[in-house]
Amino acid sequence: MSALTLVWFKRDLRIDDHRALVEAARRGPVLPLYIVEPDYWQLPDSSQRQQDFVADSLIELDQQLRRLGQGLVMALGDAVEVLAGLHRRHGFDTIHCHEETGNDWTFARDRAVRAWCRDRGVAVQEYPQFGVKRGLHDRDGWSRHWEAFMAEAALDPPTRLAPVLETRLPGDPFSTSPAFDTTPCPGRQPGGIGAGQSVLESFLTGRGRSYRGGISSPLSAEVAGSRLSPYITWGALSLRRIVQRTRTARSEARATNDTRLATSLNAFDQRLHWHCHFIQKLEQQPAIEFHNVHRGFDGMREHDFDHDRFQAWATGQTGYPLVDACMRYLVHHGWLNFRMRAMLMSFAAYHLWLHWREPALHLARLFTDYEPGIHFNQCQMQSGTTGINTPRIYNPVKQAQDQDGQGRFVRRWVPELAGVPDSHIFEPWQLGLTEREQFGSTGYPEPIVDYQQAAREARARLGEYRKQPGFREQARAVHQALGSRRGSTRRKTRSTKTDPRQGRLI
Ligand SMILES: Cc1cc2nc3c(=O)[nH]c(=O)nc-3n(C[C@H](O)[C@H](O)[C@H](O)COP(=O)(O)OP(=O)(O)OC[C@H]3O[C@@H](n4cnc5c(N)ncnc54)[C@H](O)[C@@H]3O)c2cc1C
Repeated sequence: MSALTLVWFKRDLRIDDHRALVEAARRGPVLPLYIVEPDYWQLPDSSQRQQDFVADSLIELDQQLRRLGQGLVMALGDAVEVLAGLHRRHGFDTIHCHEETGNDWTFARDRAVRAWCRDRGVAVQEYPQFGVKRGLHDRDGWSRHWEAFMAEAALDPPTRLAPVLETRLPGDPFSTSPAFDTTPCPGRQPGGIGAGQSVLESFLTGRGRSYRGGISSPLSAEVAGSRLSPYITWGALSLRRIVQRTRTARSEARATNDTRLATSLNAFDQRLHWHCHFIQKLEQQPAIEFHNVHRGFDGMREHDFDHDRFQAWATGQTGYPLVDACMRYLVHHGWLNFRMRAMLMSFAAYHLWLHWREPALHLARLFTDYEPGIHFNQCQMQSGTTGINTPRIYNPVKQAQDQDGQGRFVRRWVPELAGVPDSHIFEPWQLGLTEREQFGSTGYPEPIVDYQQAAREARARLGEYRKQPGFREQARAVHQALGSRRGSTRRKTRSTKTDPRQGRLI
């Protein structure tokens, strides 16, 4: 009998376009494994909503593997100990898995596993699962690499797996491994491959038409956005398959003169590229999870973390209706559209002058689609600490006027303001006490800061740091290592009418 290969599933919970599984099956018998790692689920960026999504996906993955001939092996514990135990019992000689660009903890875990494999003479074969390239030092030629990866044929699953071991998935795979954060998430998207495929299908054949123009407002984005993020994050769908399906749908739309769909799918395709663009940054510089991308900002916000402000922001009690509505919506759904995520982070970083790390962890726990590479980079971008992006300070009142003109979103998620007339719905503090009593809004907090003054002060503080000697040289080095080589971002940055050192108000 040929040697046994262990396929370790991590954030790639599917059998379609799964190179590790396909290559392993070509060698001979396969042991497909998922490890529930209690220490991972106790990290401050993990949560039950993520765990529940993974559980849905594991159940379906197991069913699919079972149909091929060998069900999923579930094990609980430290990865090295689990692998050592399985090695003693089954004597596999190779591990196949996908490369993971996760947080610091998974990075250290993978190193420990590789060291154990070296000691035991077990070979490890890791495959990239999307356009992130290991071992890069700068971004020259990266876009070409991404395109080439996406153009390669996606892999069909193996037709059969030889049965190796009787397995039975526990009813709740995580019952003995509670998550750090257990905030209920009644509006969470269901996990799993089938759910992901129907979300993709409905987007490419209909919903996608409203993508351009529909993803900025929290009212329309819920339907107009693809909503594929958690399926991509946990690997229930292959990014390459999504890119290829999108391009086919775009060609069909062009052929039938469906310009609206074709243009929208163009914009969507670009986001799929951004997905890997941001993860590549963390792959090259894992320190981004903890430290400012541009170290010239070190010391700017580190010393005066205001816990009361953080608490008000985290619980949707800042007194700014759209900010609070977005936070409460996110708690309920585990998802929020890009613009509103950016506004939440910008409000924490600029108006409340909080260091990005704690707000980033809070948002990470609330996002079912938490993806460290995108997340920490975006949190830093919206806090102004990358040094290569024009700082954007989102005005919470203007955003509300632009994205929720009638106040429908605010009234739904901040019911304290349900009776306030349109004229004051985004600035309820302008009402007198008698009017507040009349409209029943007395339970809603006063604004936590004066948003205009806070934005002015933040811009000035940021500007001081950007004027320091050596700032530009370091920014150039950051750009060389991590910046996009696609012309558009840089052109936009240069042509902005505001002085980038002062920050842009939007
Ligand atoms: C502060 C902040 C934190 C974020 N954290 C995450 C995160 O943890 N996980 C995550 O998947 N996205 C994150 N994003 C990016 C973006 O908001 C989400 O990907 C998007 O809202 C998910 O909804 P969708 O699938 O409908 O997106 P669509 O617009 O339909 O995009 C399709 C896919 O492209 C990728 N994508 C979209 N926008 C971006 C972007 N700006 N940067 C990188 N990739 C993008 C995602 O994989 C997304 O699923 C964050 C944005 C901000 C401002």
